[in-house]
Amino acid sequence: MHTVLLGPPGAGKGTQAERLKVRLGLVHIAMGNLLREVVKKKTSLGEKARAFMEEGKLVPDSVILELLKNEIEFEKKGFILDGFPRNLSQARKLDELLDKEAEKLDLVINLEVKEAVLIERLKGRLICSECGRVYHKSNIDGPSKTCKDCGAPLLQRNDDNSDIIKKRIEVYLEHTHPLIDYYRKKGILRNVQGEGTSEEVFQRIMEKAVSYKL
Ligand SMILES: [Zn+2]
Repeated sequence: MHTVLLGPPGAGKGTQAERLKVRLGLVHIAMGNLLREVVKKKTSLGEKARAFMEEGKLVPDSVILELLKNEIEFEKKGFILDGFPRNLSQARKLDELLDKEAEKLDLVINLEVKEAVLIERLKGRLICSECGRVYHKSNIDGPSKTCKDCGAPLLQRNDDNSDIIKKRIEVYLEHTHPLIDYYRKKGILRNVQGEGTSEEVFQRIMEKAVSYKL
């Protein structure tokens, strides 16, 4: 099963992808984490990506696609993709890539969350500087701001403040609108209401995933 999780920043893509991974036995490919990982490991693709990132530029599709290709070839059991595609052109390239492997995308889950809720979530978001696990200020007991998994310090992303958050949501909506249309026309888009607890959202996603499998 090949799945894409779409949703604006703060929609809970990472959290839900991790839960789906456990429940359905799929591989979670988080594009942002994957990029950080190859840059850290200094692979040849990582070095290419770093050159763009250091100049504050977007990593080009060609590098991202190459990275993804390696992951997909390696992981034959199916994946949940999060953080990619971000626009129509990337969606088409993903289809081409899967086509070459005689595979296709099965399901696109689109998490819908109101802007006010997104802003509230992102303002309180803390991220582990080592493994990327996401926390919320309201869920941390006591003063220790370290990761429960790996013990590294938790940091607030510098683009998680109100003005930049609004801008990121705008940019997201502008670029993914055509993407959502594209998947709707293919008949594989499922909208899921992304508000409420993580468990509630997960149940809604599972309903869609199960009805797809039947
Ligand atoms: Zn950690």
